[in-house]
Amino acid sequence: MNVTFLPKCYLSVCGKVFRKGLTEMVQTNVIECTNCGNLILIAATQKSRTCPYCGVRVETRRANKVASAEDAFTASRVVRSLKEQKKLHRDGQSAR
Ligand SMILES: [Zn+2]
Repeated sequence: MNVTFLPKCYLSVCGKVFRKGLTEMVQTNVIECTNCGNLILIAATQKSRTCPYCGVRVETRRANKVASAEDAFTASRVVRSLKEQKKLHRDGQSAR
């Protein structure tokens, strides 16, 4: 197996796909899309990013910053745990 190319699509985390060098070791923020509310990773140096969910361009300054992490990998883990929390919360309210 030869994984040399990660799609531009950000951080589909499968645990160990990431290596130093591949991962952007830059401070990464987690923001909420101003349009659809999904969580997006964005490098702290980036001013805007197109939301992968709805395609709207999100400006960092306008978006609600949920968290920040020291690198993209950590940020992706933050996103995952946030999503888990949301899911749990939703399940707890709707079903059962
Ligand atoms: Zn969006």
